[in-house]
Amino acid sequence: MYQMQLQVGLFYIKSMNYKNTEKFSLDLDLNDDLKKYRDEFHIPLQKNGKEHIYFCGNSLGLQAKRTKKFLNQELEDWATFGVEGHFHAKNPWMPYHEFLTESYSKIVGAKKSEVVAMNTLTVNLHLMLVSFYRPTKNRYKIIIEADAFPSDIYAVESQIKHHGYSVDDCLIKLNSRRGEASIRIDDIEDIIRDEGDKIALIMLGGVNYYTGQVFDFERIVKAGKERGIFVGFDLAHAVGNIQLDLHKWDIDFAVWCSYKYLNSGPGSVAGAFVHEKHHSSDLPRFAGWWGHDKETRFDMPNTFKAIKSVEGWQLSNPPILSLAAIRASLSIFDEVGMERLVVKSKKLTDYLVFLLSTIKTNRIQIITPKERGCQISIRVKNGNKALFDAIMAQGVIADWRAPDVIRVAPVPLYNSFSDVFKFYRILKSSI
Ligand SMILES: *Cc1c(COP(=O)(O)O)cnc(C)c1O
Repeated sequence: MYQMQLQVGLFYIKSMNYKNTEKFSLDLDLNDDLKKYRDEFHIPLQKNGKEHIYFCGNSLGLQAKRTKKFLNQELEDWATFGVEGHFHAKNPWMPYHEFLTESYSKIVGAKKSEVVAMNTLTVNLHLMLVSFYRPTKNRYKIIIEADAFPSDIYAVESQIKHHGYSVDDCLIKLNSRRGEASIRIDDIEDIIRDEGDKIALIMLGGVNYYTGQVFDFERIVKAGKERGIFVGFDLAHAVGNIQLDLHKWDIDFAVWCSYKYLNSGPGSVAGAFVHEKHHSSDLPRFAGWWGHDKETRFDMPNTFKAIKSVEGWQLSNPPILSLAAIRASLSIFDEVGMERLVVKSKKLTDYLVFLLSTIKTNRIQIITPKERGCQISIRVKNGNKALFDAIMAQGVIADWRAPDVIRVAPVPLYNSFSDVFKFYRILKSSI
């Protein structure tokens, strides 16, 4: 801990002296104690054979080189054992999802009984809404960000309609103030204070996918609890990106995908957190055999008896090949730890923000607040897709959000300070 504070302190002093030179970025790389991890990943190549500047880890994380080994193990065991692999594989498939639990519990700050890898993200969101959104005549509203990821809006709206309520009556969409990009915590607290006894659920993205804003989890939970409201988060853009402490923060539920900052491959299995205080509750849920008591699951009983942990929300036996890819990725997070990742992440984004500030133009504006993870959203005045395409043509892989926002995510596991510098140079020459 002491060492970390020192590092952060030193960095603070250094950040005052950032330089916008390539040499300086290379020096930062030399002093980067996570630099060897870049070699652990496949960096996509350009046509000219050079590595891309890959700033899209917030959409699809890169493949760790060790992933193949983890997948091959399961392919071999399937070839060798057939169905017996459930018990005799090197990593038996029956309890395979449990091999991910400890790593996940560290990444999201939870007890082991509170985290599970299952399904996909939007499916998990629906399952959690089934348990935690139970509208009544008096309490039926949901708070969500106005610019939440569309799938989350669809999920929430369809749940409202499923219960026979109207979206107009039920959905409170949080907006930023005119001329501002971030949503103010004070405004969220005001709404909770004013409408609290009608609100059933607060459901926010822990890190907003568009602006990169990190919400103040503790204040939101506190405000919600005071009014008897369930509080859940979609952590798609938070997990593996920022430090989380879900248990301590007393969050009721959370869901996330594993293919963004967790680098586990396209469409890979998602995760869920349910606070332990709900594990033995009688919340309604949609059930499946994998959520049934492990002792009697294979007796094929007709009456469902939920596992008294988050595992009780599982439906199906999970896809082992996908879980193997997640295990490969989580083994890297185990080695590095979120503390070190976050230290480097802050340096990378601070450096990027510094470099952008040296561009003499009124065309670019960073809409990401200082409460952020590694994503920086840049609004380009009079920008358009052609400008973005011109940037991409110079070896950048980033993300364009109409009408005028470029999202870039320098990821501490595999991005370098020179990636950040090169991106700055390309952006500067393009606008
Ligand atoms: C990426 C993302 C999704 C994607 O949902 P899938 O079910 O994994 O396709 C949903 N919500 C948020 C907030 C996301 O960032």
